[in-house]
Amino acid sequence: MKPQTAISRQLDDAAALCKANGATLTELRRLVLALILQAEGPLTAYQLLEKLQHIRKGAVPPTVYRALDFLIENHLIHKLERLNAFIPCAESHDHEVQFLICGKCGTVAEIEDPAVSKALAKAAEKAGFHPSNALVELDGTCASCANH
Ligand SMILES: [Zn+2]
Ligand SMILES: [Zn+2]
Repeated sequence: MKPQTAISRQLDDAAALCKANGATLTELRRLVLALILQAEGPLTAYQLLEKLQHIRKGAVPPTVYRALDFLIENHLIHKLERLNAFIPCAESHDHEVQFLICGKCGTVAEIEDPAVSKALAKAAEKAGFHPSNALVELDGTCASCANH
C-alpha cells in the first residue's frame, strides 16, 4: 500500500489540473482515480467496478467507463491496450509514452523517450501514414525480477 497522504495529495493535484482544463473532478471520478492510484499494478475496468461497488453500492459498468474516459481525457491515467487495464499517469499531461510491462510481477513502468517517439513518427511519415495514437507496450522482465 502506498502512503495515504501521498495519494490525497495526488488527488488534490488532479482536481486542480482538471479545473485548469475547465473540467471537474467529481466525487465519483476522484474515487475511481483513488482506486487506480492505490493499486500496486494495472486494474481492469471490471476490477475497478468490483472495488467501487464496495464503496458505492449502485455503481454499474457505464459509471466506471464514463469516469475512466474522463480520467484519460484529462491525462490522469493511461489505458494499456493489450492488458485492457488502467494505470495512473506519472506526468499528468498529454505525452507520447512507452510502457514496460513485466510479465513476472505485473508492474508497469512508464517511460518517455523522445527519440522513440521521433523514430516512430519518422517511420510512419515514410510510409505516408498519419498516426493518431502512438502507444508502445514492451513485454518482458523488469530490473528487479531479472535480478532474482
Ligand atoms: Zn503518462
Ligand atoms: Zn517484475
